[in-house]
Amino acid sequence: MALQIHCFVCDFAGTPKIMKKINRPDYELRRQIATGYQQNLHKPVEEMNLESRLCINCYRTISTENELRNDPTCIKLNIFRQTNRATCLICNGVGNLRRFTMEARVQIFIDINIFIPERTRCCHDHLNRHGKLLQDHYPHLQYFNTLYKLNEEELQNFLLNMREASKADPYSDHTTFSEEDLKTLSSVTREQFQELLTFCDPVPVQSNVHRYVTEKHLLLFLCKLCQGLSDDFWKVIRQTLAISIVRQSLMIRFVSQNIGLGAITRQEYIDRHVTEFANALYNPDAPNPTAIACIDGTYSYIEKSNNFQALRQSYSLHKGRHLIKPALIVAPNGYILDIHGPYFSDSRNNDAVMLRSEFEKDADALRQWLGENAILIVDRGYRDILPLLDNLGIDHRMPVFFSKAKGNWRLKKQTILDL
Ligand SMILES: [Zn+2]
Ligand SMILES: [Zn+2]
Repeated sequence: MALQIHCFVCDFAGTPKIMKKINRPDYELRRQIATGYQQNLHKPVEEMNLESRLCINCYRTISTENELRNDPTCIKLNIFRQTNRATCLICNGVGNLRRFTMEARVQIFIDINIFIPERTRCCHDHLNRHGKLLQDHYPHLQYFNTLYKLNEEELQNFLLNMREASKADPYSDHTTFSEEDLKTLSSVTREQFQELLTFCDPVPVQSNVHRYVTEKHLLLFLCKLCQGLSDDFWKVIRQTLAISIVRQSLMIRFVSQNIGLGAITRQEYIDRHVTEFANALYNPDAPNPTAIACIDGTYSYIEKSNNFQALRQSYSLHKGRHLIKPALIVAPNGYILDIHGPYFSDSRNNDAVMLRSEFEKDADALRQWLGENAILIVDRGYRDILPLLDNLGIDHRMPVFFSKAKGNWRLKKQTILDL
């Protein structure tokens, strides 16, 4: 293989024939420019000497800067570094290319201070629906801080677009955020965000009047959930309507299709989620499987709230931490049939109170869904509401007290140990 020499600036490797040396009278000026470029590419600083070689692209860029240095109409900018303008700036592909619009170029300049020269091309796949480069590609863009001649028309056009961009609302479009930033704001991925958006149906407010959920609304809503920002905060920035509209919208289809009694039929539940083991253990008529569900309150630990009332109500003396208590109805295989609450964790909300409140709200729906012979498994926290379950005709199982049996068990244990 022929000898390969690396470019001093960009590391491109080529044969000595195509790699150029700088041996001209203005060597010192060119050396300074080359060293600056090397730093732009975040390469470790290396001392240039008369033997150092440059690839043709770097050589040309240096020559151009050297020529333009006495031209007062030129300005120094971080100019995107591209080896071939006919190919995609990200992947060097050649198919389905688009030229960047002025809006797209301005956006990149605003976001990362890199100027994309006119006529630069890019694959359609790297652009969002407004023709702007997806932020996930920003780290791939390299630049040289070099002189550039902006003609009058281009400058005017650029400034006009900068002015428009300064008035635009960045939250109106999720694609203006990188995948990482979107996740930080909303705690969901871009794919999840887009899917969730398809569930955001218009919310009817009056006959024939609907409120529509925008991307910004959904983003703010997820932001609230993720960051735990108080309602007062949203009041101050006048976005309470956005939060409430998304909540109402998601309740129409998203919530009911994914959780609750409407998301699954009794028969599907029995077939898919009642395990043979649970059926054999609890169902006296095992050949005919029935709906078996466990109900229990669980804990979800939360950060301390800034809202004093919520801070008090979410403090659990029992656990010594801040938490909220959702009550879950769960299948024997772990499938969550329904969630009630969440309830605050102060003493007013024990398991029985939570369940009673739910039964009082929609006893009929649950009883009808459970149907004949359904079995609820509860722990002793629910002992106060057994009469209520009996009244509703719902069969239940609860661990019995040890009392005497406990004594006997101890005795037995001792006997075994004595042996
Ligand atoms: Zn080079
Ligand atoms: Zn590409």
